[in-house]
Amino acid sequence: MNTITNGTTAARTEALDIAQRLTGHVVIDGKLAPALMSETFPVENPADGSTIARVPRCRREDVERAVRSAHRAFPAWSRTPARERGRAILRIADRLQAEREPLARLLALDTGNAIATQARPEVDAAIDMLRLFAGVAGELKGKTIPWEPGTLCYTTRDPLGVVGAIIPWNAPLLLAAGKLGPALVAGNTAVVKAAEQAPLAPLRMLELMQEFLPPGVANLVTGFGEEAGQPLATHALVRKVTFTGSCEVGKHILHYCADKICPVTLELGGKSPNIVLADADLELAVPGIIMGMRFTRQGQSCSAGTRVYLHQDVYDAVIERVIPALAKLRLGDPLDESTEVGAVISREQLERIERYVTMARDTLGVRILCGGARPEGDAFARGNFYLPTLIEDVPSSSPVCRDEIFGPVALVSRWRDFDAVLEQANDTDFGLAAALWTRDLSNALAFAERIQAGFVQVNQFITPRPNLAYGGLKASGLGKEYSLESMLEHFTTSKTVIINSGKRPG
Ligand code: NAP
Ligand code: MG
Repeated sequence: MNTITNGTTAARTEALDIAQRLTGHVVIDGKLAPALMSETFPVENPADGSTIARVPRCRREDVERAVRSAHRAFPAWSRTPARERGRAILRIADRLQAEREPLARLLALDTGNAIATQARPEVDAAIDMLRLFAGVAGELKGKTIPWEPGTLCYTTRDPLGVVGAIIPWNAPLLLAAGKLGPALVAGNTAVVKAAEQAPLAPLRMLELMQEFLPPGVANLVTGFGEEAGQPLATHALVRKVTFTGSCEVGKHILHYCADKICPVTLELGGKSPNIVLADADLELAVPGIIMGMRFTRQGQSCSAGTRVYLHQDVYDAVIERVIPALAKLRLGDPLDESTEVGAVISREQLERIERYVTMARDTLGVRILCGGARPEGDAFARGNFYLPTLIEDVPSSSPVCRDEIFGPVALVSRWRDFDAVLEQANDTDFGLAAALWTRDLSNALAFAERIQAGFVQVNQFITPRPNLAYGGLKASGLGKEYSLESMLEHFTTSKTVIINSGKRPG
């Protein structure tokens, strides 16, 4: 962090220029345009607290304008042949590919995520996600049903109308692409509500998308949850809501949608277990546990494996390797290519993390094995940095073990009995991701059968990927994303049609 190279300075200047140009704008009706609401609020660089742009504090009027625009665009877009819609999305993916570096820099500046470990891979993942959905446009097929002679009976796959897509700040570009890809390919139009803390990269992506889409097909508003998100989710013309964020807000969204009988997808939080068996290959498991913690994204990942359960026979061997590896992770300027861990999104979030760590520290029998503090040094003083933290023996009844902390904090404990550890792993309100490390196939199968989670892995703990249906059980949400099936199930409706020729077959 102390040494900002010239390369980093140039990257920052370029990203700041884009951020400045976006200031005061939303994407509505085919272009980047000033919002109706002239009031704006600052977007902060999490790494130094500076203001990098100001975005409109949209309220009902701007949401109304965006939804009306999407509604107007719907008839023509929904009648555009599906593969032609897919080709438009492919062109968008190519355009984003050409803008990969500037987008990655803007994303790093906006989210505080390190460019090398998170922001650039996120741009790549967003592009990949769009290409997945563009490629399956031809799969929007119905079925024919054998019925009476002299009739044709079939089903269709139809778009729903205007989709309201509400996204959080942790992976904003990927999450926007994961919603817009299937929504638009399926023939819907959309209004995105960006998160207040990190709206810039989605704003720029939506601006770039306009070159390939008719006006109104994809719009974006900025603003606060209750002022912009709620009018969007409750709008009568919004026929589908797709939401990624916290459980707390997810419940509100479900209520709004219940009130208007509107389909909804909820991708909510997690507190995912990661279980290491005594026979695990530690060469694989140790880096896998660290990858699972998602500390290169400051732990701000819904799929993070933050409850680590180590068999007592390998406990010391794993801990001895994990702690030095965590201590070596390089915190610093997100735009510096050598940085592995960037800054937490906001001061508020940083203080929330600190409250949980204090609670753990104050609990009898709990030990902080590493981290547990902000890093020292002037270079970190103005940013929201927090050291990778590992905490031992937090009781399963503690909020530290039950709540999603969404920071670089993982818990570790030892176990002896496989049935008991599976029970412990399932003793949570959440059910998003889970992993197990073993060489024994029967344990792997038992785990896969019994674990209550939507995204289950053995001997790896990768992030969600395009083409793999992703979504949670229990309080982690409703519905899946990222796959052909999820597009068909969540972004289309269907009709059953019987056409009677009117003639009795001879
Ligand atoms: P959040 O507070 O729930 O906010 C998510 C989005 O909802 C933001 O755009 C927010 O606006 C908006 N919002 C807030 N109140 C609203 C309301 N009453 N009506 C409509 N919209 C409203 O979540 P966050 O703090 O940004 O993100 C972190 C959470 O996202 C974590 O719980 C994480 O696990 C979850 N997440 C889940 C997945 C997944 O795929 N399962 C992926 C990533 C993140 P503001 O920006 O103004 O608050
Ligand atoms: Mg929030």
